[in-house]
Amino acid sequence: GQGREMLGVGALVAGYGAEPVLHGIDLQVRQGEVVALLGANGAGKSTLMKALAGLHRPVQGGIHLEGLELKNFGAEQVVARGVVLVPEGRQVFPELSVLDNIRLGAFLQPADRDARVEEQLRRFPRLRDRLHQRAGLLSGGEQQMLAIARALMARPRILLLDEPSLGLAPKVIAELFAALDQLRREGMTLLLVDQMAGLALALADRAYVIEGGRVVAQGTAADIAADGALAQAYLGQQ
Ligand code: ATP
Repeated sequence: GQGREMLGVGALVAGYGAEPVLHGIDLQVRQGEVVALLGANGAGKSTLMKALAGLHRPVQGGIHLEGLELKNFGAEQVVARGVVLVPEGRQVFPELSVLDNIRLGAFLQPADRDARVEEQLRRFPRLRDRLHQRAGLLSGGEQQMLAIARALMARPRILLLDEPSLGLAPKVIAELFAALDQLRREGMTLLLVDQMAGLALALADRAYVIEGGRVVAQGTAADIAADGALAQAYLGQQ
């Protein structure tokens, strides 16, 4: 069941120069909820995800995790509090083995590391077959699974996923969303950016649509999916 607010973003302003990219974003993610963040390229979704992950410092506004203000925390402090990003483009370490990439996810939480690696290998059996290969040799889908496994090693309370399906074949995307659905059933809280709006909305409880750095629509995933005008204007490819 979904409970109280886990992550809260209030009036968040962020950008890279004089002109902000995010013009005052408000959103909430409750415990156990899957929230989809939709919008065209350049809407500011990645900027928001980076701000939430402590990788990009906002200009104004607040980011709260169960009441704790995270806005001025760096990436490592944010991870330590349980907000963990699976970045756009996977960002695995190509020269390191699959195993070492997974282990690296536990750098702040080394207790029981090997048992937790085993958990991830049960979750993603394909990674076990490739355990001692260089991560750079994996397919795109395998690298995405690896990036998720690595993130899960940090014991997230909320997992942020930025464009996990980008560049993957339809069959692989289906496997990826099945893995995300499994996480959802385990009770993991997810905030997901993905251009596959149809799949993201099928997985999600609620959704926000961002355009030009502002929230232009929000609601249950079913209501957003049923809004034909929204779909045409903002949601892009399905
Ligand atoms: P995409 O799906 O294309 O990544 P997005 O919704 O994630 O789109 P952002 O990546 O957040 O959008 O980009 C929002 C705006 O900020 C764009 O105009 C982009 O050019 C600009 N931007 C992003 N990163 C930087 C940066 N490091 N420096 C300057 N401008 C940036």
